[in-house]
Amino acid sequence: MLVLGIESSCDETGVALYDTDQGLLAHRLYTQMELHALYGGVVPELASRDHIRKLSPLILETLQAGGKQTRDLEGIAYTAGPGLIGALLAGASVARSLAYALKIPAIGVHHMEGHLLAPMLEEDKPQFPFICLLISGGHSMLIRVDGIGRYKLLGDTLDDAAGEAFDKTAKLLDLGYPGGPKVSQLALRGNSERYKFPRPMVDRPGLDMSFSGLKTYTLNTWQAALADDDDTEQTKADICRAFELAVADTLTIKCKRALEQEGLNRLVVSGGVSANREIRSKLDSLMKKRRGEVFYPRLEFCTDNGAMIAYAGAQRLLAGQHNNLNFATTPRWSLEELEPIA
Ligand code: ATP
Ligand code: MG
Ligand code: FE
Repeated sequence: MLVLGIESSCDETGVALYDTDQGLLAHRLYTQMELHALYGGVVPELASRDHIRKLSPLILETLQAGGKQTRDLEGIAYTAGPGLIGALLAGASVARSLAYALKIPAIGVHHMEGHLLAPMLEEDKPQFPFICLLISGGHSMLIRVDGIGRYKLLGDTLDDAAGEAFDKTAKLLDLGYPGGPKVSQLALRGNSERYKFPRPMVDRPGLDMSFSGLKTYTLNTWQAALADDDDTEQTKADICRAFELAVADTLTIKCKRALEQEGLNRLVVSGGVSANREIRSKLDSLMKKRRGEVFYPRLEFCTDNGAMIAYAGAQRLLAGQHNNLNFATTPRWSLEELEPIA
């Protein structure tokens, strides 16, 4: 089954062609990062307008790259939520109109299910069941996954998401947007001995997380440095290093706990923050020590993309699921509400 996938939940327009027999045929991504960088964060109205501008040309480009035409399509998958309502509507309208015109089924995909299943696009893919650490710009969750649509939320963040903490830390240090890659890059030059940041929530039982305290810790450390006239690049790098190590350690401790609790030894890490080098290295060591397995998406599929939506939608369409024309978007949507596939 040949499926066109469309992602437009935030500031990335992603389009992909996925064939359930042949795999990923082509994908294209347009990022609005530069547009929003001017404002230090995503401006919803500008995001919607830019999606509208880019969707049609990207769809045509992707079809061409995959050597296909619209009449070859057998299904369309689009991100229905969670996300920015205007941005979601832009993708949903295009997807549903195209499906209607071509008389093929369309399905609204849960954006986080897309992230969660992104490692399935790789050659070496995880078997079910596994524990998924889903760390992105808006979410930090630990999920037990027993199959597609069989999700049990084990832990969540009580405040900021991991990616949000990276973004806010970058903003505090005036490193620009989006923060994850900037903090991570500067951390490479940081001295890990200089500052020791707390590991939030690790001394409490359970699998919930909290990252807003780390951001406050960054703020206080930076203000103290400013007061000492020590506002150098090196100090910023040392703060970034301490921050990144604290996040990586905390996530590793929580993953270990989740695996032990559920009696599993297979870990999947996805979402934008799973691109982080330090986090990957700590989780790799954890799983090596446990003689378990760990899976990540390729770097370009950690952050938002059309391929993960095409993949998730294709599995559901193949199982006979689709949505009628009344179904547009669901800006707030829990993963646990999703229907399992048989
Ligand atoms: P959600 O998926 O929860 O709706 P989102 O779509 O905005 O949110 P993603 O696209 O999955 O999130 O990821 C973007 C986030 O990933 C940003 O917060 C960004 O700072 C972070 N990020 C990207 N690369 C890295 C990195 N190398 N290290 C740490 N964080 C990173
Ligand atoms: Mg993004
Ligand atoms: Fe995302």
